[in-house]
Amino acid sequence: MWIFSSPKVVFGDDALEYLENLRGQRAFFVTDANMVAFGFVDQVQQRLAAAGLESAVFAEVEPNPSLQTVRRAAEIMAAYEPDWVIGLGGGSAMDAAKAAWLLYERPDADPTAINPMEEYGLRQKARLIAIPTTSGTGSEATWATVLTDTELQMKLSMGTPELLPDLAIVDSSLVLGLPPRITADTGMDVLTHAIEAYTSTLANDFSDGMALKAAELALTYLPAAYADGADAEARGRMHNAAAIAGIAFGNSMLGLSHAMGHSLGAVFHVPHGRSVGLFLPYVIEFTANGGGTRYADIAHFLRLPAGDDEAAGAAALVAALRDLAQQIDFACSIQALGIARDAFEQALPKLVANAEADNQLFFNARFADSDDLARLFMCAYEGRPVDW
Ligand SMILES: [Zn+2]
Repeated sequence: MWIFSSPKVVFGDDALEYLENLRGQRAFFVTDANMVAFGFVDQVQQRLAAAGLESAVFAEVEPNPSLQTVRRAAEIMAAYEPDWVIGLGGGSAMDAAKAAWLLYERPDADPTAINPMEEYGLRQKARLIAIPTTSGTGSEATWATVLTDTELQMKLSMGTPELLPDLAIVDSSLVLGLPPRITADTGMDVLTHAIEAYTSTLANDFSDGMALKAAELALTYLPAAYADGADAEARGRMHNAAAIAGIAFGNSMLGLSHAMGHSLGAVFHVPHGRSVGLFLPYVIEFTANGGGTRYADIAHFLRLPAGDDEAAGAAALVAALRDLAQQIDFACSIQALGIARDAFEQALPKLVANAEADNQLFFNARFADSDDLARLFMCAYEGRPVDW
């Protein structure tokens, strides 16, 4: 038995208006200081007020939110007793909202041990709305939650299907004018979600269509969104693509690019999309070398110049990614990120150990052991093709 899950998704450049129909008493925002400064919190609060809801704001979420921040948000939330929790911002704010909401519902839960096997009985006190202001993580449409343990320098990928937001507001007016660097990083995250979701060992009939469509949208519209932050068409399509890719991987999981990307991001503080997007071509080569993958399907759907066999499909996909990277000025090696070789080699055992502890490792179509991971990290550092 399989279950396909998705939040209710409201999309378009006027999607925020939907909130004027919300029923409830009190809403609690989990967000960051920029969302207040840009006036986004105010915009949402006005819609809530029209629906007769009061609201309070926790605006202290940092990039790569820590457990400590989440606990603090949960405490303040508990005192306010909201019946709606709103995660507003990028992946960090939405993930922090999920985790803080869980602790509000279940103060006894251990946030480091949240897992899909346990029943948490959420939604006794509140329901969750996610409003993304970047087009990347797809956190608005998934139950995945990534926190950072700052002391251990590692990412905690946690989650239970109960953390899937009830409502995702995918309003493209919130992403107009995003800077090019953020556009490139988050857009590569979308593409990585789409490709890893389609090639994961848990890919299925329901997730496949979402994955292919998201890949097509991202490959088509990312260059335009990068070149002109105010291109409403490109922005809207990328915003949809992020949520669609989220629904895809939320129902099929990811792969090695995310296991390695989480690891590099935690040790060297590389933004999530920059990190996972960098590994993607290397992971495609590694996985395709093992045979029996589905990259030719993707290449075919994207109308890339590829034959029918797997190797040609994978090669065409890697070539398209390299071409895209050039268009959006995206680093193709770890060295190009400015990380010194000494520091990298010294961190290699930690990088491998982190990746091995990441659950996304197990959904990659070709399994990577410690030796493979160390070699893959070195290929990605030097920008060398993967030849085994
Ligand atoms: Zn991602």
